[in-house]
Amino acid sequence: AIEDATVTPGITSFDAVMEHKDGVRMVPLEFSIVNLIDDPVVGGLVVTAHDITPLREAQDSLEFLATHDPLTRLANRNLLLERIEQALSRARELGPVTVFFVDLDRFKPVNDLLGHDAGDLLLVEIAVKLRRLAREGDTIARLGGDEFVLVAQSVASLAAAQAIAQRVENAVSEPVEMIGGPVQVYASVGFARSDHASTAESLLADADGAMYLVKAERRGDLRRSSIPVSERRAMVEALAVALREDQLVVFYQPLVNLKSRVIVGLEALVRWEHPERGLLLPGDFIGVAEESGLDIALGEHVLRTACIQLRDWEGLTAEPLSMAVNMSAAQLADPVFGSVVRDAVDAAGITPDRLCLEITEHDVLERGARGASRSPLACLSSLREVGVKLAVDDFGTGYSSLTHLRRFPVDVLKIDRIFVRGLGRELSDTSIVRAVVGLARAMDMTSIAEGVEQEAQVEALLAMGCEIGQGYALGRPAPADQIRETLELGTPTGL
Ligand code: C2E
Ligand code: MG
Ligand code: MG
Repeated sequence: AIEDATVTPGITSFDAVMEHKDGVRMVPLEFSIVNLIDDPVVGGLVVTAHDITPLREAQDSLEFLATHDPLTRLANRNLLLERIEQALSRARELGPVTVFFVDLDRFKPVNDLLGHDAGDLLLVEIAVKLRRLAREGDTIARLGGDEFVLVAQSVASLAAAQAIAQRVENAVSEPVEMIGGPVQVYASVGFARSDHASTAESLLADADGAMYLVKAERRGDLRRSSIPVSERRAMVEALAVALREDQLVVFYQPLVNLKSRVIVGLEALVRWEHPERGLLLPGDFIGVAEESGLDIALGEHVLRTACIQLRDWEGLTAEPLSMAVNMSAAQLADPVFGSVVRDAVDAAGITPDRLCLEITEHDVLERGARGASRSPLACLSSLREVGVKLAVDDFGTGYSSLTHLRRFPVDVLKIDRIFVRGLGRELSDTSIVRAVVGLARAMDMTSIAEGVEQEAQVEALLAMGCEIGQGYALGRPAPADQIRETLELGTPTGL
């Protein structure tokens, strides 16, 4: 460059990296050379150089910010799309591109309850886990919130992709140590593989769609079964027959005062005495009932049966018992449901305040909001006018922010058993339960812990101020005559 400058008039400038005199660092320098060879006074080149380290750093960090997530330092959406495109352009030689879409489960309640700093820390930890799993050449990105993407080329087969998805799920679900104890979140991972028509955008959207299916299926797992479509049609027929021929029976599970161990109420849980398959649990048929619209008739049957049953147990206990009955989203949205409830209560001769209708958090907030002509809020308010109590079931699994709930006129929060399970062992679960109990109290609601299976959980719940529990340790769901015996004895059913 210096030789060039001798023959170029005016100013020449260029960058070069030179060794610092400490002999360790390399320093980026900007040179400018002013050609004054023809100047009679100077007769030479004037070379100045200055250290442009700060400038370079600023440029680099601007570049970095434009392409990375500042929190986890993973690629951002822009860089991700660029990398997918690059990978697609090499697909002919290197094979299809596989994009894994990773969405965290339960991150939101953890973030809400432990605070954003803890949430950030958790995201950084998850980024570290993903980096550890990735191979050279893979791209990992965070799309914001709790969504991550892994891009890998030359994943040999579908089975290999499946194995990677599984490894990601396993790694993410390992508890993260935080101040105060371990915190656990889970991941739903879906993936898509490129074909000749794929674009970066379409491949990312496909992976997102696959993740959504995984998540939906998993969320449904608790209440719906994996009955194939072909069998479902037959099942709808059979369920209609079951309703007509009285094959549906109602079991009851005690709700127990944790301090006194006295039964304070029962929850009606439907069962199907299937002529060939034996006793079926709701997980096997509620999904089919909801899809086919039979849930409305089924729900009414359970409601009427439970109200009459409650009347039948009258006088067996010192304090009047309450009866909890589950309702589906369609029942809640049904404009005549209010009068059905009133009629069931009147027919049984009980007062409406003894009846508590349960709706899952998911149904109130996600499903109720769609399709139905009235808002879930309006539906719940009209039931309130009938005089019945209302409970949010499986609370904590619907990802509603805790404060969101304030708008709904509910009396009871049922804390989902996935949080009760980790009580005392896991910080996130313990904090969630504590927060829900506190929130319930602040809003003048009753909290009920579901899935109480161990004495230690009873102790932890009492310490937090949760007074009512339900679970195998306190009494399993049982047929009415068995519950009657227990009520007559005055002690809860148990293991
Ligand atoms: P849910 O309302 O949350 O009912 C509690 C479920 O947890 C019951 O399952 C009960 O047997 C189970 N359970 C109780 N204690 C424990 C425990 O300690 N550990 C464990 N692992 N599980 C426990 P079930 O009877 O299979 O009912 C499943 C779901 O089906 C119910 O969840 C409810 O959402 C739905 N369901 C039940 N009956 C009806 C109904 O009549 N109508 C509608 N729409 N849904 C119903
Ligand atoms: Mg329930
Ligand atoms: Mg529940």
